[in-house]
Amino acid sequence: MSKSTQREPSVAIIGAGCSGIILGLKLKAIGFHNFVIYERDSDVGGTWLTNTYPGCRCDVPAHWYSLSTHLNPNWTETHPPQTEILAYWQKLARDNGLYEHCQFRTSFVNAKWNDSTSSYRIRLKEGTHFGPDAPDSQSINNGASAPSQGQIVEKEYNILVSCIGGFSFPLTPKMRGLPNPYKDDKPILEKPDEILARFSHAAATRGDLSEVQEEDKFKGLVLHPSRWPRQGVDLHEKKVIVFGNGCSGVQVVPEIAKDPTTKVYAVVRSAQWLLPAYVDFSVHLYASSSHTSQCREIKPISKFARYLFRKSNLLLRIYRFLVYIQLECAWLLFPYSNKWLRDIVEKLWAPNELSETCE
Ligand SMILES: Cc1cc2nc3c(=O)[nH]c(=O)nc-3n(C[C@H](O)[C@H](O)[C@H](O)COP(=O)(O)OP(=O)(O)OC[C@H]3O[C@@H](n4cnc5c(N)ncnc54)[C@H](O)[C@@H]3O)c2cc1C
Repeated sequence: MSKSTQREPSVAIIGAGCSGIILGLKLKAIGFHNFVIYERDSDVGGTWLTNTYPGCRCDVPAHWYSLSTHLNPNWTETHPPQTEILAYWQKLARDNGLYEHCQFRTSFVNAKWNDSTSSYRIRLKEGTHFGPDAPDSQSINNGASAPSQGQIVEKEYNILVSCIGGFSFPLTPKMRGLPNPYKDDKPILEKPDEILARFSHAAATRGDLSEVQEEDKFKGLVLHPSRWPRQGVDLHEKKVIVFGNGCSGVQVVPEIAKDPTTKVYAVVRSAQWLLPAYVDFSVHLYASSSHTSQCREIKPISKFARYLFRKSNLLLRIYRFLVYIQLECAWLLFPYSNKWLRDIVEKLWAPNELSETCE
């Protein structure tokens, strides 16, 4: 360890999703290298590593849902699939030497502040196997996962940053008779300190099944989009009930309903706002065809447009700026009870396909 490193504070970052990667990039950009990223999974990517369900994509155009400092001229669609987004973040980490800072298969457990040393003593569980491909996952629920046993180690850091994400712990409906295969898949924060407690919102173990009669228990497969088995699931001739119509529900329902033998029931609490992908002001940049695979028009970006973006960083920035302006304008629909504007938009783009799917 160099002299300068000794004087630097040490930083522990928990989680190697987008937030952990961005923080790592920023630290390196200012010449700070004394940090470690602890990740319970086996790679970087977070959301985009674990969400492999059919139809998984970003719901914000990728030219905007990517870093202004690391533009990608090669997005193949306006809302590319999960594999492409994951590849983008993994390339970022690789190209910028972040993998050298990552310690995978290591789960953060808890931290205690020590005033006298001005540092956190953090406890980590090393050697955990997390994710649908974990060796012990098959026994739980056809691909559902839980962190397996590991070895506890303690380390000291001056600064601790939680990047564990808002969606990295599956929520299942709390219902009598419905088993929760993910009950062990939760933040393992023993006695979390005040800051980290905020991130453990999904930790509660759901539903006491002990009083439920064996015959009343649901015996079918329980899946969560963020723990979808990476080898896929055969839903041919199955009846599937999907709870929720947020980003994942909206994406997964049309995809699994493509098989005419699969009967899909979508249970939704309230209607969802679905805006068109965005106004096509730059149609000449796109390939001629577009497809509506999931309640919205997802537009392929032509090879020619990608070529132009690769050749001209300025063009790429202008395009990104136009996407940004459009998204910002969409915000006008929501505040100040802006009903008249919403009515116009509804008339222009109704009916949305999700409501048809859900009937
Ligand atoms: C299907 C889907 C689509 C989305 N689309 C969009 C979009 O289009 N636009 C948008 O802005 N947002 C979108 N989001 C939100 C998305 O989650 C965020 O944009 C972003 O990916 C969050 O990154 P993060 O690093 O904060 O969290 P995450 O990506 O969740 O990463 C958290 C990381 O922390 C790790 N971790 C958790 N606990 C521990 C622990 N105890 N020890 C060690 N590691 C731990 C996890 O394994 C994970 O790798 C989407 C989310 C989902 C699920």
